Amino acid sequence: MHTRDLSEHVAYEAGRGIEEVARELGIDPANLIKLSSNENAFGPAPKAIEAIKARAPSVHSYPKSSAADLRARLAERHDVASEQIWLANGGDGAIDCLSRAMIRPGDGVLVPDPGFAYYGMSSRYHHGSVGTYPIRKAEDFEQSAETVLNHYDGERIVYLTSPHNPTGSEMSASDVETIATDTDEETLVVVDEAYVEYSDSPSAIELIDGRDDIAVIRTFSKVYGLAGLRLGFAVVPEAWADAYARVNTPFAASEIACRAGLAALDDDEHIEKTIETAAWARAYIYETFDGPTWESAGNFVLCEVGDGGAVTEAAQREGIIVRDTTSFGLPECVRITCGTREETKRAVEVFNGLV
Ligand SMILES: *Cc1c(COP(=O)(O)O)cnc(C)c1O
Repeated sequence: MHTRDLSEHVAYEAGRGIEEVARELGIDPANLIKLSSNENAFGPAPKAIEAIKARAPSVHSYPKSSAADLRARLAERHDVASEQIWLANGGDGAIDCLSRAMIRPGDGVLVPDPGFAYYGMSSRYHHGSVGTYPIRKAEDFEQSAETVLNHYDGERIVYLTSPHNPTGSEMSASDVETIATDTDEETLVVVDEAYVEYSDSPSAIELIDGRDDIAVIRTFSKVYGLAGLRLGFAVVPEAWADAYARVNTPFAASEIACRAGLAALDDDEHIEKTIETAAWARAYIYETFDGPTWESAGNFVLCEVGDGGAVTEAAQREGIIVRDTTSFGLPECVRITCGTREETKRAVEVFNGLV
């Protein structure tokens, strides 16, 4: 008995957890600051915590209207029809839904390098092949339609990430539109906006109206602080939005997740504090970090440190966990998530003592 040939598949490498690092170093988890997974420094939206507690006694039932309620709320916010909101088990789950709806065996997808590993992983599950386009350090990780189109070879899906993880750079709406227009009729452009709330740029959701070839991925894991709950969605064109019913996992977005999501959308105080503090932290890191940094539109900053692996380990011994970007092909850098003011100051202090 064997699995199918999985030699082309790679395991997802998540940022390291506090308990894991604390155990390894033999220290109290309370003394660690985790800035490795772009989570929300202020925790979950308080209103979401209340909603989670309120729903706990009824989780023996299958989800009822919560998903429909959340789809309707999101549709209203983004000025699309409810059918165009594909709720899923995290942004990753939304990517899987798009893979299922689009990819036939042998189809290609085009993904950024460096970039988010899950685009390629999901495509491979669906027997798709993976091509890449570069986002080059020599060009300060600038994203352009020209580079994407130069590497485009008729792929079924082209993935764009804006703001981009791990570099923080953005792709302009006009470049997204150019890519959608200049690629084949049967090519879908997927814009992953996991961090868009931290950016001042307009969302690509505005481009979907009247088109059938752009979809946008969003998540509740970052600004809303619900990474552990697993809730995200795609906004898809009206033309094929009804495919959701045929590709969705039954009850993929749980009752608790949907109720928490609805509550988090209304927690303005938490959202504002989160976005303001991230903007402060980015500016603080650019100004005070002893080494090259790149301007970021997300809640993290890519910083050059020399030997990313060694510096990450040394920082960990001082209580700061960050993401070594070696697995992204940037072994000389680390990605530091924006923490609270205190956490961010402490992180920069530790790094400036190391690099
Ligand atoms: C965090 C993230 C996502 C979504 O993550 P989920 O937790 O699955 O919602 C998607 N894309 C990028 C680039 C991310 O960093």
